[in-house]
Amino acid sequence: EITRIKGHQSSEIAELLGYADSECIIHRPANALKELIENSLDAGSTKIQITVKDGGLKLLQIQDNGHGIRREDMAIVCERFTTSKLKSFEDLSTIGTYGFRGEALASITYVAHVTITTKTVDSNCAYRAHYSDGILVPPKPGVSAEPKPCAGNNGTQITAEDLFYNVPARRKAMRNFSEEYNQIMNVVNRYAIHNAGVSFTCKKQGSNQVDISTLSTGSIIDNIRQVYGVNTASELIEVNKEYREFEVKLKGYISNANYSVKKMTYPFLYLSLDINPKNVDVNVHPTKREVLFLHEDEIIGRICDVIQARLANTNSSRSFLTQT
Ligand code: ADP
Ligand code: MG
Repeated sequence: EITRIKGHQSSEIAELLGYADSECIIHRPANALKELIENSLDAGSTKIQITVKDGGLKLLQIQDNGHGIRREDMAIVCERFTTSKLKSFEDLSTIGTYGFRGEALASITYVAHVTITTKTVDSNCAYRAHYSDGILVPPKPGVSAEPKPCAGNNGTQITAEDLFYNVPARRKAMRNFSEEYNQIMNVVNRYAIHNAGVSFTCKKQGSNQVDISTLSTGSIIDNIRQVYGVNTASELIEVNKEYREFEVKLKGYISNANYSVKKMTYPFLYLSLDINPKNVDVNVHPTKREVLFLHEDEIIGRICDVIQARLANTNSSRSFLTQT
């Protein structure tokens, strides 16, 4: 069920969240895609397919197999501060989802034409609706803006078209489609690696070639192999450590000490920190580019120690053999 975050007016919420009411979190296509991927993951999806045209400026489409959006929630889903993830600010201390502010879809509808097609398991058909500036809009003049029944699979497809159509200066600054596509791939790669159990694909519209593809059965190391290749994956050392006193679990894959020398490239590092939500402050930056957590300095110190120890231990050996 999607509701407005209770107990506060919109402007108060923005103030509480610590940033200006008008601040837009979508500066380029990759920002929009990050938000859409996070929504698909929050919806419990195991399959996420991304299609892109002109670096995401013409078209950014994401199809998932998650729990979908109920017909009765479709009218407010793109309004600011409407969310199914947070009922009150007190819930913030236990938040276990990527999203909680109810801002992302709204922001995207302010700079693009958005179409949502979605079906919940309980519904016998899918519904499609179009959005602009946070509200339902008719697909063409003279017809109803109400969500229309249609055929569709369980899950949600969201399409953002003509990104920044109403912000000419930003549109002009985005001439380089392949640079925007690289940024998109960068985002997809990171989520694809980290989310074992979820298959990701990303391709350009009209192309037969899939540029990223991971399996829902893949482990993190499998995903790294899919994205960065067998040569990188076979040079990785696994790091696992639990810091009970800080309620933190660390899991990582780091390239061995010879890797950078041999490949003349930067070291590879994947680090995942599992932290008790009550020790994390996610409200520092609207897109969570930065978060604060308790005992940060001590934890970082411990991580450096454990990585150094692992590297010293396996100095000359290829230590993480993987199946190919
Ligand atoms: P938030 O993620 O912070 O709740 P968003 O604006 O990103 O805010 O999304 C608003 C709401 O729309 C979500 O809380 C969720 O209920 C619904 N939603 C968005 N994307 C999806 C999706 N792919 N599948 C199911 N529900 C979705
Ligand atoms: Mg979200």
